[in-house]
Amino acid sequence: MLLEIRNLTIEAGGNRPILRDVALSVARGEVVGLVGESGSGKSTIARAVLRLLPQNAAARGQVLVEGQDVLSLDDGGLRSLRAATVSMIYQDPRSSLNPVRRIGDFLTERMVHTLGRGRKEARGRALELLAAVGMRDPELRMRQYPHELSGGMLQRVVIAAALAADPALLLADEATSALDVTTQAETLALLRGVQAERELGMLFITHDLHLAAAYCDRIYVLYAGTVVESRPASALFADPRHPYTAGLLACTPELGDPRPIKPIPGRPPSLDDAFAGCPFAPRCAHAVAACASSPPPSVAVEGGSAACHLIKEEAPAC
Ligand code: SF4
Ligand code: MG
Repeated sequence: MLLEIRNLTIEAGGNRPILRDVALSVARGEVVGLVGESGSGKSTIARAVLRLLPQNAAARGQVLVEGQDVLSLDDGGLRSLRAATVSMIYQDPRSSLNPVRRIGDFLTERMVHTLGRGRKEARGRALELLAAVGMRDPELRMRQYPHELSGGMLQRVVIAAALAADPALLLADEATSALDVTTQAETLALLRGVQAERELGMLFITHDLHLAAAYCDRIYVLYAGTVVESRPASALFADPRHPYTAGLLACTPELGDPRPIKPIPGRPPSLDDAFAGCPFAPRCAHAVAACASSPPPSVAVEGGSAACHLIKEEAPAC
């Protein structure tokens, strides 16, 4: 398995859990969606894969990348993980680029410093990468500054940089959320294209369940730092099992869907809210007495699992 997270619990200062017992995997060539509202812990999972956690955070469990536990890597191992094996793409491309450096310098210096390539080789590779992400006239782009490019073009530059080291795993954290709809579609198509061509594993993080369902092979739905449902995208979309997943689908209908929008009442718990049972209980229309007092177990359902007291274990289909 390319990425395998086992029993990951992360506590920030004061023993407040940000993630609870998270299990997640991404195979080579697979696009896996990680969906949840803001504050659900999605970005924390991505940061844990690169061990970019706050100083005061304590992590338990395992984060295995190609079989090696990131949480116990030494400095050299961590450097090579971040430089070569795993690349992260953030929401705002401008946060990754230096406004006073030309695009060409940004791309080549990264390769010279972090990958130890020679300058000439790095320049050639930068031109290739810009062409690979669909930038016309790469020579011109190399001479330009970030402010001369649109948001969509800048995100292409960031994707080119992410591919520079031939990583095995891409972490895309809301990578298209800041773009307008047309540019978003183009950028998604580009990401999917490079992912398939290079057989990369991708963890695609988004708050948009419809987008994830259209784009990913499998999806994990996160709520208050726990995985509440994980299934193949098509199964999850057609027949959500967890009340929260169903609620997310009902509150964000697709364009042209005649059904009324049904918002989920209440708001997600904050980090300071303690809960003994199901974290979704205060908002759940189906809650029973056990929901407030005991955490629901994760049970096997078609293609994956869901954590809810009302869901009965299903025998695997033969
Ligand atoms: Fe709702 Fe209870 Fe299931 Fe939680 S465990 S989702 S509160 S029914
Ligand atoms: Mg986030």
